Amino acid sequence: MMASMAHLQEEKLQLQKELLGLQEKLAAQENKEHSHSLQLQGQVKSLQMKVLEQAQEISRLRLELDGTDAVKRQGLVAAKNESLWQEMKACKGELWELWRQQQAPCQDCAHLQENARLQEQVAQLQWEAEEMRASMVELNLEVQQKTNRLAEVELRLKDSLAERAEEEERLSRQLRDSQETIASLKSEAQQIKDAIKTVEVESAEEKQALCESQSQNQHLQEQVGMQRQVLKEMEQQLQKSKIMEAHLKAQIMMCEGELDRTHETMLKEMQEMEEEKNRAIAEAFFRAQAEMKAVHENLAGEEGIGGLTWLILGCHTTCPSPCLVLAGVRTNLLTLQPALRALTRDYNNLKRQVHDFPLLLQEAMQSIRAEVGWAIKEVHTTNQELLRKYRRELQLRKKCHNELVRLKGNIRVFGRVRPITKEDGKGPEAANVVTFDADNDAVLHLLHKGKHVSFELDKVFPPQVSQEEVFQEVEALVTSCIDGYNVCIFAYGQTGAGKTYTMEGTAANPGINQRALQLLFSEVQSKAADWEYTISISAVEIYNETLRDLLGKEPQEKLEIKLCPGGSGQLYVPGLTGFKVQNMEDINKV
Ligand code: ADP
Ligand code: MG
Repeated sequence: MMASMAHLQEEKLQLQKELLGLQEKLAAQENKEHSHSLQLQGQVKSLQMKVLEQAQEISRLRLELDGTDAVKRQGLVAAKNESLWQEMKACKGELWELWRQQQAPCQDCAHLQENARLQEQVAQLQWEAEEMRASMVELNLEVQQKTNRLAEVELRLKDSLAERAEEEERLSRQLRDSQETIASLKSEAQQIKDAIKTVEVESAEEKQALCESQSQNQHLQEQVGMQRQVLKEMEQQLQKSKIMEAHLKAQIMMCEGELDRTHETMLKEMQEMEEEKNRAIAEAFFRAQAEMKAVHENLAGEEGIGGLTWLILGCHTTCPSPCLVLAGVRTNLLTLQPALRALTRDYNNLKRQVHDFPLLLQEAMQSIRAEVGWAIKEVHTTNQELLRKYRRELQLRKKCHNELVRLKGNIRVFGRVRPITKEDGKGPEAANVVTFDADNDAVLHLLHKGKHVSFELDKVFPPQVSQEEVFQEVEALVTSCIDGYNVCIFAYGQTGAGKTYTMEGTAANPGINQRALQLLFSEVQSKAADWEYTISISAVEIYNETLRDLLGKEPQEKLEIKLCPGGSGQLYVPGLTGFKVQNMEDINKV
């Protein structure tokens, strides 16, 4: 094509050159003719001037003829005039002939023929040139189109290459995953065989099983509700018993304090009594000593000190005068003896008491300790029992959840139809094209381009359904997330369908996100006494297969999704930014 174009261009140049030559020739010919005609016109003009001059001469001569030989000269002039007239006529004829020649081209004029031929050739060439130009334009257009197409094809090729690379990458990833899955599946082969058997049996009675499972589902949901209630009650009981335990412990502490204090006061009292006793004994001793001394002195005044023992010993048998003194002493001793005896008794009593007190105290302490220990044991066993029940319920709840998930399916698809809003206007955009089935809340009918289409989903929410009702349907998922299950909720639909409204909602009417987080935090708080939860938040964007960390310092950095080692099947994103959060405000701030 390029070669033919070049050839055409060459031809075109050649023709243009020829055309130019012809045009030059034509112009020269025209010039020549023009000068010829100008020449002839000049001749005519000069002849006319001559005629005018002759006429003037005639009139002058006529005037002269009025003189002597006027008649003779008139004859001459008339003859001259006649000849001049003839001359003029001939000139006019010649001029006419020339003019005629010029006006009506003669057929055999070589120049004119040449001219006409050239003009024809010129017209032909011009037409050809025009055609060439048109074909050139066409060719140019074609070339342009082809270049565009080539660019497109190149682009597509590039895209498809990139796609292929991505596809390859994805496939290799899939291959790796599948290999891992195969490895894990191999180990579960027996289980799968069993499961297949069960499924086979189940498939035979599918319809019946479906009905049964639906009713079972209902039943399980009720059970889950009930168990949740029971669990709550038990948790409350646990809480109460814990409070009671704390109360009892405080009481025990108080009792022990009291006991210690009593012990101390008793010890103090005993010490005081001991001191009192010692003092009394010392006093009695001193008094007895003083009295003895007095008696002694009395006796020494009469018979000397050395005879005292004898006097006392012989007082019943000896003479009456020393007997009088002895009687005084005796009475004194007799009066002292009961006091001494009482003191001794008191002393012995106190001594016994002091001796017995630690024993008594120990006994009392032991009995109190036993009592308290028993109470604590009782509380502990109750706690243990409650804990056991709680764990059992938790286990049961997990089992129920598993069953529920099995029956309801792991993936559930809901449809929500939003009401027609002001923004829809009043035109065809605001037409209602959706209808519902009053008996079946899982069906949606649509009028699309004049055709009726129906869709079956797990559940359909009509426009009047509130945010709360939508949340109720997914509420259980939040609880199972606390029980250790992975949960994902996502909204899909065209712009303006109501995704943001359903997920985020408004401040006055919050959506699933806000409600789920609120529930999560309240559940965590109610279990705070027994469990420790850590909640952290991360945000990623997946757009055109590219993963980005939205909370990271470098949002342009591309991340990867990886399979957790250990065959758990869990996924994770290495290096993903996460923030620990304690409440809703923290989350909203992040
Ligand atoms: P999307 O996020 O899918 O583009 P929006 O959530 O922004 O759509 O919804 C579009 C408009 O419709 C918003 O003005 C929103 O308030 C309104 N809207 C959506 N769903 C409902 C609903 N269930 N009830 C009332 N208004 C709604
Ligand atoms: Mg939106």
